[in-house]
Amino acid sequence: MSNCVFCKIVRGEIPCKKVYEDESIFAFHDINPIAPVHFMVVPKQHIDSLAEADASHAEVLGKLFAKVGELARGQGLTDGFRTIINTGRVGQQEVYHLHVHILGGPDRLGPMVVK
Ligand code: AMP
Repeated sequence: MSNCVFCKIVRGEIPCKKVYEDESIFAFHDINPIAPVHFMVVPKQHIDSLAEADASHAEVLGKLFAKVGELARGQGLTDGFRTIINTGRVGQQEVYHLHVHILGGPDRLGPMVVK
């Protein structure tokens, strides 16, 4: 998607603090972190949101979720973390390129639903 901000990050057209990249997924720090560690993992392939994901996306989403624990440990999150996928209007999704937030830090996080 030519106008999608996360597609532009994946293509290297917008700078980011990259965490990881392989042939199918890309991870980078959130520009506006809400926890001591806050990064996101996205499929390189554009998918608007989790609401649009279907069986054709199973392989890339499987690879994405299979990598989250390793990436979180790599960022120092060895005692747990939180994953969030905001979806659509009700989920207050801001960027319509499916992404998984990974949040953590040394202390326990706050309540689950705050936005
Ligand atoms: P969401 O509400 O789940 O759609 O979250 C979108 C997230 O993308 C927000 O936490 C933003 O801070 C983050 N974000 C937006 N633009 C950028 C960018 N250029 N680089 C890194 N993070 C971004």
